[in-house]
Amino acid sequence: MSIRAFFALPLKLTVVRRLSDHADSLCHLDPKADVLWVDSDNYHLTLCFLGDVSLEQVNQLESLAAKVLLGQPSFQVQLQDFAYYPVNSHLSVIAAIAELTPELTELRQRLVSMLADVGIDTRQQDFKPHVTLGRLSANEPFNAPEVWPKMDLMSVADAVVLYQSKAGANGSIYTPLFEISLASDGS
Ligand code: NAP
Repeated sequence: MSIRAFFALPLKLTVVRRLSDHADSLCHLDPKADVLWVDSDNYHLTLCFLGDVSLEQVNQLESLAAKVLLGQPSFQVQLQDFAYYPVNSHLSVIAAIAELTPELTELRQRLVSMLADVGIDTRQQDFKPHVTLGRLSANEPFNAPEVWPKMDLMSVADAVVLYQSKAGANGSIYTPLFEISLASDGS
């Protein structure tokens, strides 16, 4: 059995609600409803995308991640900007952009190194930390504003989750496979 999986930071509920309000306020830029707006229950900040892995690998990763992230402190993720950009030749996204802090870089690097050690190569993936709010075909024009609405949100990153991603009738369904807590005091 193969499992499509990715590591991500979940967001705090208050931040999810504020982001959802922001996404609602952007809907007038999409009068023809070309954008597939992400259900706020699915908001997350992807750390790395694994692709298809086996159940054995998931179990292996759970114990490895617990060791690799032991003592890794929790930290604040700051979301300050919106952006609209292509991710590949087919797909563009509207996203809330997170500041690339040393803590976020370090956390991701630990996961990337751990994955490389078990033969899952994510080193070539671009890391532009963001929360996807909407997706649209790269062929569809989107009337991005010159000046986006102001946003200043902080979400504490206190856990790393491995999610399963499944295609559903109304978009992807993300299911947590395991969660590793980050240390609240760095111990
Ligand atoms: P996804 O492709 O399974 O991606 C899950 C998460 O990983 C998302 O957060 C995504 O980006 C991130 N991600 C995916 N590829 C990445 C890469 N190369 N580098 C870095 N991050 C990557 O699910 P999705 O993004 O919700 O869906 C995208 C398309 O795949 C949809 O058309 C959907 O229907 C299809 N899909 C297929 C399957 C399947 O089993 N074949 C399952 C789910 C979805 P963001 O962080 O930017 O959102």
